[in-house]
Amino acid sequence: MRINLLGAPVDCLTMEQAEERVAELVRSGGPRRIITLNPEFLYRAVREDHTLMELVDRADLVTADGEGIVWGGRVAGTPFPERVTGIDLMLRLVKRAAAEGWRVFLLGAAPGVAEEAAENMVKRFPGLQVVGTQHGYFKPHEEAGIVETIKQRAPQLLFVALGAPAQEKWIDRHIESIGDVVAIGVGGSFDVISG
Ligand code: UDP
Repeated sequence: MRINLLGAPVDCLTMEQAEERVAELVRSGGPRRIITLNPEFLYRAVREDHTLMELVDRADLVTADGEGIVWGGRVAGTPFPERVTGIDLMLRLVKRAAAEGWRVFLLGAAPGVAEEAAENMVKRFPGLQVVGTQHGYFKPHEEAGIVETIKQRAPQLLFVALGAPAQEKWIDRHIESIGDVVAIGVGGSFDVISG
C-alpha cells in the first residue's frame, strides 16, 4: 500500500517488508530506484524543487525515513508501521547481500571512507562481495568513467552516499546507463559504518 503525503507516494512497509521488496526488485532486474524519504526532502520537493517530486514518483520503493514522515502518516489516517531509514535499510540489505551472493558497490563519502565501510561490513557479514568503491568528491568530467566502472563491475546493489538530494539526482541521471541495478541513496551512512 502507498500513502500520499503532500503529493509524494510513500510505501507503507515494515523494515522487513522493505527488505523483501528490495529482494524482489533484485530478482526482477532492470534499473530500480529506492528513496528513503525524510521530511527535509519532502519539504524541498513541495516548496522548492518540483523535479524532486518527479524523482519520488519514478522510484520503485519510497520508504518513510524520519519521525516527521511517520507523523504525517498518522495525521493522514494511514499510519506507517515504522521508520525505514537509509542506514538501517542499508545494513539489512548488506546482510542479505552476503547471504544471497549479491554484489554491492559503494559510491560516495570522502576518500577512503567507502573502503573502510566496506572492510567493516565484510568483517561483520563474511562472504559479502563488495565489487567496488568510489569516493564522492569527483569532478563532473570524471562521472562518465565512474558510471562505466560501475557498469563493468555489475553490482546488484548500488549504495550512493552523496547526501540528499544530490544522490537521488545522481542515481536518476545515470541508472539507465548502468542498467541492471538497484540503487539507493543512503546519505551519511558510509561515515557511520566506517567509524
Ligand atoms: N558527500 C559526497 N560528495 C559531495 C558531498 C557530500 O560524497 O560532494 C558525502 C559526505 O561525505 C557524506 C554524505 O555525502 O558522507 C552526506 O552525508 P549527510 O549526513 O550530510 O547526508 P544526508 O543524510 O543529510 O543526506
